[in-house]
Amino acid sequence: MDTLAAALRTATAGLKDSDSPALDAELLLCAVLQKDRSYLRSHPETTLDAVQAARYAELTAARSRGEPVAYLTGKREFWSLELKVTSATLIPRPETELLVEQALALIPPAAEWEILDLGTGSGAIALALAKERPCCRIQATDLSVDALAVAADNARRLQLRNVEFLLGNWYTPVAGRRFHLVVSNPPYISLSDPHLTQGDLRFEPRQALASGADGLYDIRNIIAAAPEHLLAGGNLMLEHAYEQGAETRGLLQGAGFNHARSFRDLAGHERISAGDWANPSASR
Ligand code: GLN
Repeated sequence: MDTLAAALRTATAGLKDSDSPALDAELLLCAVLQKDRSYLRSHPETTLDAVQAARYAELTAARSRGEPVAYLTGKREFWSLELKVTSATLIPRPETELLVEQALALIPPAAEWEILDLGTGSGAIALALAKERPCCRIQATDLSVDALAVAADNARRLQLRNVEFLLGNWYTPVAGRRFHLVVSNPPYISLSDPHLTQGDLRFEPRQALASGADGLYDIRNIIAAAPEHLLAGGNLMLEHAYEQGAETRGLLQGAGFNHARSFRDLAGHERISAGDWANPSASR
């Protein structure tokens, strides 16, 4: 029987196409054993039983075919929250934590704001904001029943009660309602982008990733309809692709937003843009 150390060595060697073979091997072994990574370090000589070894072989084979680790383990950490993810949801990305960070910079700690998260997926953004701003009420919409079920399950497990999940396309479930803050990490990849057929993206829901010929189809629609859903002084904040900052700011300005601005991610790319809504009577 393999020891944990030996199993990890074999698995790591077999995952050479991954960007992070050793980490992937550890996370998959943690999932098999239902233990955390420190256990692997402190018990290198523990042996896997036959069932565990077979399960580990299955998971590492799936990973070497390209399946994302998060779908194989069924979870992903986001903003220090452990989120369940399935193939019905996008896998939350570290870039999106920048959106959470910038949104929190706008929301005073004791604010009782109404916040809207469009296309919530696993609930990542909505749940992080709900956790950090317990006095705010968050509405989170998604077009996918299966994604909303995952998001609702995450809210239940994390015991976050100030989020409500609503089924429908963008603002449809909140027709006639206005918010202090609207946030979204919408699909923003061009349909012709070859990345859609590479790496983890191959396994993620296409409707969560791709957005028309130029990747801006959904961003355009979200910005155009935002004035009908913002209170005076409210804000809209969106994630977008690294080369879409200027276009997104242009769309915000064109829709009448003030102070259109972008924020850079750790790689130095404009990744998040925001605008302030001053004048609901001018909504078009
Ligand atoms: N809001 C979710 C996230 O940030 C899902 C985004 C999406 O599916 N485009 O992870």
